[in-house]
Amino acid sequence: QKCLSLIKKTKFLNAYITVTEEVALKQAEESDKRYAKGQSLGDLDGIPVAVKDNFSTSGIETTCASNMLRGYVPPYNATVVQKLLDQGALLMGKTNLDEFAMGSGSTDGVFGPVKNPWSYSKQYREKRKQKPQGENEDSDWLITGGSSGGSAAAVSAFTCFAALGSDTGGSTRNPAAHCGLIGLKPSYGLVSRHGLIPLVNSMDVPGILTRSVDDAAIVLAALAGHDPKDSTTIQDPVKPWMLPSLNDVSKLCIGIPKEYLVPELSGEVQSLWTKAADLFESEGAKVIEVSLPHTNYSIVCYHVLCTAEVASNMARFDGLEYGHRGDMDLSTEALYATTRREGFNDVVRGRILSGTFFLLKENYENYFLKAQKVRRLIVNDFANVFNSGVDVLLTPTTLCEAMPSLEFIKEDNRTRSAQDDVFTQAANMAGLPAISVPVGLSSKGLPIGLQLIGRAFCDQQLLTIAKWFE
Ligand code: GLN
Repeated sequence: QKCLSLIKKTKFLNAYITVTEEVALKQAEESDKRYAKGQSLGDLDGIPVAVKDNFSTSGIETTCASNMLRGYVPPYNATVVQKLLDQGALLMGKTNLDEFAMGSGSTDGVFGPVKNPWSYSKQYREKRKQKPQGENEDSDWLITGGSSGGSAAAVSAFTCFAALGSDTGGSTRNPAAHCGLIGLKPSYGLVSRHGLIPLVNSMDVPGILTRSVDDAAIVLAALAGHDPKDSTTIQDPVKPWMLPSLNDVSKLCIGIPKEYLVPELSGEVQSLWTKAADLFESEGAKVIEVSLPHTNYSIVCYHVLCTAEVASNMARFDGLEYGHRGDMDLSTEALYATTRREGFNDVVRGRILSGTFFLLKENYENYFLKAQKVRRLIVNDFANVFNSGVDVLLTPTTLCEAMPSLEFIKEDNRTRSAQDDVFTQAANMAGLPAISVPVGLSSKGLPIGLQLIGRAFCDQQLLTIAKWFE
């Protein structure tokens, strides 16, 4: 009830696209009954959770914040949604995002932008007063980051205890950093993607946003596991439930990738990054500088691979099977064209066009195949570092704290989201687990997160170190 009333009170944040009040209340009632009867309870029994609106939910509209899927009601639950429900979680609603999870601000969905709850914190407001007046109060808010900004705002505003995001290039970790939360991207293959409407199949992972590392571990334990409906899930997952307390970090080796010290990095983030490295060192860990030499190519490489997969994935939205349908009086070709023009925003259409270009027969080798080779080099960079004895990498999550919306929207979304993913994207290319942990506040009183990247399928170790670090 408290969470539902907070959802209503914070409606202006635009965190939710659909609030599933009736569903949540019914589930809460059932949970109460189980409790009263002394029946066995799930790990998430009675816990309010929210789900990003690109996960299919049976009987509940699933829009991807796009006109294309407005009104689309899936006939089945994504595996991760089903697992949350099986563990007794209460579904509070479906959260807002950038259209089809393309973006890093959560400003681009058809239902309007998500506002960062920290925009309204006392400390930030006080600082804001010193700024020159004249801006429209309505536009005076900070972005959440994205594309899982609705999930981040929902947890940050206490409307739920955990939320599912998706993470293809940083979409869970980026908003977690901007909203002062834990954002976990599990290893690729640990958690099923079945029912997650794809962006880049080879990089998409369901992500978890929570207030603490322990909470993230509990949710991961509920979600992880082989799924016959996702052939990329592994058979034998680790069970990271109940993390051990790490008292001693002296056996750990922490790598600091030197290529991550980019000129665009804000001074405040850099200084917290240094402080964190010093903390590990002063507690006895070995902290070493390492090199990931192909880092500079990861964003360009991502652009080719992402758009190529987008061009192929989006072919299913033809106006016949799902959601929006254009003018039926036209030819089939024209029906496709009007459907897609009306259904997709310009970011999605732009990516379909770029991807189609990269996949043209004459371009395939020069762009797509070359990008795959570069991806291999990036994967090898990580392998070399981990093989040399490094346990985790410590990096910033984002270049700076959450930006004011006006500043963010001024910049071209495509350029912006390319820059924003500089620290997070490569982990998706390599399928590695990564987590953003809030480490402090900026001088404006806004949260800053740092990222830990671990070895593939060493999610439990990563979470244990993150717990020590949080
Ligand atoms: N910002 C990246 C993009 O727009 C990543 C998005 C994501 O992780 N879903 O493609």
